[in-house]
Formats: sequence, structure tokens, C-alpha cells
Amino acid sequence: MALKIDIVTIFPGMVQAPLAEGVVGRAIARGLVDVRVRDLREHALDRHRVVDDVPFGGGPGMVMKPEPLFRAVEAIRAERGEPAAIVLTSPDGRRFTHADASRLSAAGHVVILCGRYEGVDERVRAHLATEEISIGDYVVSGGELPALVIVDAVARLVPGVVGDENSVARDTFATGLLDFPQFTRPAEFQGLTVPAVLLSGHHAEIESWRRREALKRTLERRPDLLTAADRALLDELLEQERVKAASRGAGVPDDT
Ligand code: SAH
Repeated sequence: MALKIDIVTIFPGMVQAPLAEGVVGRAIARGLVDVRVRDLREHALDRHRVVDDVPFGGGPGMVMKPEPLFRAVEAIRAERGEPAAIVLTSPDGRRFTHADASRLSAAGHVVILCGRYEGVDERVRAHLATEEISIGDYVVSGGELPALVIVDAVARLVPGVVGDENSVARDTFATGLLDFPQFTRPAEFQGLTVPAVLLSGHHAEIESWRRREALKRTLERRPDLLTAADRALLDELLEQERVKAASRGAGVPDDT
């Protein structure tokens, strides 16, 4: 069964265009992901289709009214059943990770609410959304781009969406490690060469080179991704290297 995703927004066009392209576009065309974009204004209460109002207590900007959002989700429920998750995009939400993408890709039915203006009425957060997700510590002007980021990351984890399953399983974060360096032709470009092992055709050696580079890169850039067990293993390996190097009477090579 296709993963159902509903996106609620005041700018349907802004969301629809990117969904027609690339991996996500193909997933939708092949029926692996069923995305429906809902115009929030259709659920406004008045003929001017107003979805925002001034904040109680004063202050600058406008706040999204609760009724249209509640009504939009009610309409989705009536049409597609109870969603497993109702995600509010919000810069003060929990930071979106691979684990969230993986969980949502298996959830069956996900609704994503796009905020605008100063954000949404607090009652939407407390009583409608089941979770709040941020795509990072910065503010963009609406939830549409964050929704697209979430949909893309989630869709590529739906089985069959990305051609080669291995490619998803091997991606940065999926393995808990960053990806290893990639090279393609030409083997020499402006005097810059490709690591010889990659041209050697020795699959076991290539595999171990990649593993080593992935570990090295993770250790250098994102040591926080390594589990305690990974670190213990790395420490052990480094210690073995040191002992070996010492017995050879050489220093530890500084790239290990
Ligand atoms: N005044 C709010 C910002 C509102 S930005 C504040 O200071 O927190 C308007 C809308 O854009 C938000 O309601 C949310 O839906 C979306 N948005 C902005 N930045 C985001 C981020 N980093 N992650 C997810 N959604 C974001």
C-alpha cells in the first residue's frame, strides 16, 4: 500500500511543482507514495477565505487561526481515515533526523501542516498536531519548504522508491556513519588523481578502504554520531596501530 501524505498549505502551487520532479516525482507517478496537497483557504470560515488574525495581547504580525487547520484535518480524516502522524512544521520543534524520516516512511499516513506569518495558534500545537518538527536552527518564511524536505527524506526510504536499495541503506546517517568519498571518471582531472585502490578491481580492498574512510570522516566531522561501542572499537584499533608502529620503530601515521 502506498504511503499517504497530505500537505496543508496556503500555497499549494509552491509545494506541487517540486513534487513533480526527480525521485519524489517518480515515486508519486509509480503510485508508491500518494501525496495530496490541500489548500487551507478552502477550509476558511468566511467568503474572504481568511486564515490569519491579529495576536491576542498585541504585537507585530499575524497568527494562523485554529479553525481552518482543524477543519482541513477533519476533511482529510473523512476522506482518507485517521492519520498516524499530524506533523506541524515549526522552528521550535524537534530537529528532524534520519530516525524520524525512517519512522514516518513506515507510518502509513502522515499529515503535514505548513505554518506562515508568526506561526499558528497554540491550540493547534497542543490539540491537533501529534508532533512538531524543525528542519534546522534557522527560520524560513513558511512551512512549505520544510514540508518538502520532510516528504523527500521520507519518500526515499519507502521500499522501491530509490532504484538500488543498497544506495539508501548506505547513505550518510542510515549506517550511523557519514558516506565515504566518491569519485567518477576521469581517473585524472587537472592533475588530480583518484585513490588507486578504487581502480584496482579488488572488491574486498575497496570495501575496507570505504569503511575506513567513512569512519575517518565521521570521526573528524561528526564524532557525535559514533556510538560508545564504535568509539571503543576505534580506540582499540588505534591502540593496536600504535603498538605495531612502535614495534616497527616508527611513529603513528597521522592519518589514522
Ligand atoms: N515566529 C515564529 C516563526 C514563524 S515562521 C518563531 O519565531 O518561531 C513561519 C512558519 O514557517 C512556521 O510556522 C513554520 O511552519 C515554518 N518554519 C519556519 N522555520 C522553520 C524550520 N526551521 N523548521 C520547520 N518549519 C519552519
